[in-house]
Amino acid sequence: MTDRDPGASAASDMAVLVGVSRTYPAGDRTLSAVKDVSLRVAAGEWVALVGPSGSGKSTLLNLMAGLDRPSGGQVVVGGQDLSRLSEEGLARWRARNLGIVFQFFQLLPTLTARENVALPLEFAGHPRGGRARASDLLDHVGLGPLGDHLPGELSGGEQQRVAVARALVNDPPLIVADEPTGNLDAASGAAVLDLLVGYWRRGGTLIVVTHDESLARSAPRLLAMADGGLVRDERRPTSAGPRYRIAPGAPVPAEA
Ligand code: ADP
Ligand code: MG
Repeated sequence: MTDRDPGASAASDMAVLVGVSRTYPAGDRTLSAVKDVSLRVAAGEWVALVGPSGSGKSTLLNLMAGLDRPSGGQVVVGGQDLSRLSEEGLARWRARNLGIVFQFFQLLPTLTARENVALPLEFAGHPRGGRARASDLLDHVGLGPLGDHLPGELSGGEQQRVAVARALVNDPPLIVADEPTGNLDAASGAAVLDLLVGYWRRGGTLIVVTHDESLARSAPRLLAMADGGLVRDERRPTSAGPRYRIAPGAPVPAEA
């Protein structure tokens, strides 16, 4: 029997992490934000990642998103070993393969909603038709009429729906979200989650860091971190389906 490369990906793997660590210098010591994490996420999974503040969730998600590089171990996403990509290659890879949603939206304040949504198309090198595609996605997230508005003219919930539209624009195989509802009221959070779960139901792979228990409970797979390590990996029946059901494009209650 030949040795198999531990980072080798099967066709069904979306993300494979092998012995991944991330340390930061902290005075004369080192802080281990992520400690020896090995993990496989299959294509088509919807995974919630929970754990106390400071347990390493964002660090791990950023490593899977190619936003950060590990201090040790291997990260392979969609068959691509991310360590083999240059910074520029990584940026292009992200634009083509990944949607990312952050707690504080991270929209560019001087671009309109539609321009923000279209931006990844330019990064990925296919800007043509971007306007129409961005408009379609804004319709999909229920914000069609607000395409010409700047982020500062939108509520938090609306901004996050723009960010979800931006994450969807390249039809990526993987979306990662870091506390996507953490800064939203319940109704806006439900609308955002519904859009993400809708993406998963259409065949996407979804990884969501969350403090929100009900959101975590709606995921078929729950990972928990503590002190930089993975401490739980549970699968649950999916028959219950998502907790929230708001049709894309349906009116969403205004934020208080
Ligand atoms: P979580 O998302 O679970 O709250 P993080 O992944 O943000 O946790 O952080 C894990 C640990 O790593 C924390 O102790 C945090 O202070 C530390 N950390 C995160 N980013 C940095 C950084 N850029 N420099 C130094 N320490 C960091
Ligand atoms: Mg975090």
